[in-house]
Amino acid sequence: MMSNIKALDNEYVANTYARFPLQLVKGKGSLVYDENGKEYIDLGSGIAVTAFGIADGKWQKAVADQAATLQHTSNLYYSSPCVELAQMLCEKTGMKKVFFSNSGAEANECAIKTARKYAFEKKGGEYYNIITLKNSFHGRTVTTLAATGQDVFHKDFLPLTEGFLYADVNDCDGIRKMVADNKVAAIMIECVQGEGGVAALNAEFVKTIAEICEKEDIILICDEVQCGNGRCGELYCYMNFGISPDIVSTAKGLGGGLPLGATLFGEKTKAVLGASDHGSTFGGNPVCCAGAVSILSRIDDELLADVKKKSAYIFSELQNASGIKSVSGMGLMIGIETEKNAADVIKECMDNGVLVLKAKTKVRLLPALNIPDELIEKAVKVLKKACEV
Ligand SMILES: *Cc1c(COP(=O)(O)O)cnc(C)c1O
Repeated sequence: MMSNIKALDNEYVANTYARFPLQLVKGKGSLVYDENGKEYIDLGSGIAVTAFGIADGKWQKAVADQAATLQHTSNLYYSSPCVELAQMLCEKTGMKKVFFSNSGAEANECAIKTARKYAFEKKGGEYYNIITLKNSFHGRTVTTLAATGQDVFHKDFLPLTEGFLYADVNDCDGIRKMVADNKVAAIMIECVQGEGGVAALNAEFVKTIAEICEKEDIILICDEVQCGNGRCGELYCYMNFGISPDIVSTAKGLGGGLPLGATLFGEKTKAVLGASDHGSTFGGNPVCCAGAVSILSRIDDELLADVKKKSAYIFSELQNASGIKSVSGMGLMIGIETEKNAADVIKECMDNGVLVLKAKTKVRLLPALNIPDELIEKAVKVLKKACEV
């Protein structure tokens, strides 16, 4: 079966992914199964998407009920799951309004358009520059690629959207100078960089950026596509840093496994987009939103405290273990610098029934927020063994 699906995938599906030689057919919670019935502990959650694991009962019921009632309306009509989710997002964050889309890239596109319009109206059309960070990742569309501060993603697709500048991570003077030397609309950051290598920005740097934005009336955008939705121990990762962004973009875990992006606007930005300034046919889809309401309503203080506890256990087990050079990240977004090649560690884990991911040269863990402690213990044993030299 494996060789058959591999051949068919290779023939008919665009070859944009270097897939692992593994076909997943079902799962429950943090356990997934391949076509031969082999069981794996899932420490990847489909890249931070299945926030409460596979086929989570409450999410599943919310989605199934909504699918059996009304699966799509278009945005020409009012629809309750979308409103309920927007209200819940605002009440839990203090943000004021939400635009819904279908992916992280789209959530960032909306953030970028909004920041540019704000700056255009407030300061003039030459204030179009958006500062992002080196090693950032913001998506695959032509504009969000431009926002992504990694040349490797750019090189075959030039020219990209103009007006992006890349600041050095954790260099306060550098970003101050960049703001002084350019006409800047926004600064966009991931508080914990994901694809760039699971690295938390330092607190001083984040505070400095927030201060610059406040003082210069520059829009602060937090890309919470990966690090948000409870992953880093707070509902949104920026909350760990005590800042108040003007725009928050998110996706991945919010939908719990269905495509959903959200762009949250604060006081400054809530009225920037008006009728026909932006839109999305599928954005705010009732099925996706009903599932997301079930996810978001359960990311409460108790769950977040548990995320922190699970995180502390994993960090303490891995730090100073044989073959592990360093452990980075926050909450259940964890990067492991290994002495062995990360790809070899990942393969050995897979052979031994544990699925982990990669970010740059690191092994990356993004388990479900509710992964049972005994599965973490089992998986960490396998992982430590795989890292050992
Ligand atoms: C995954 C990711 C994106 C892109 O999300 P898509 O849903 O793949 O478009 C953007 N920003 C960050 C930080 C991400 O991790």
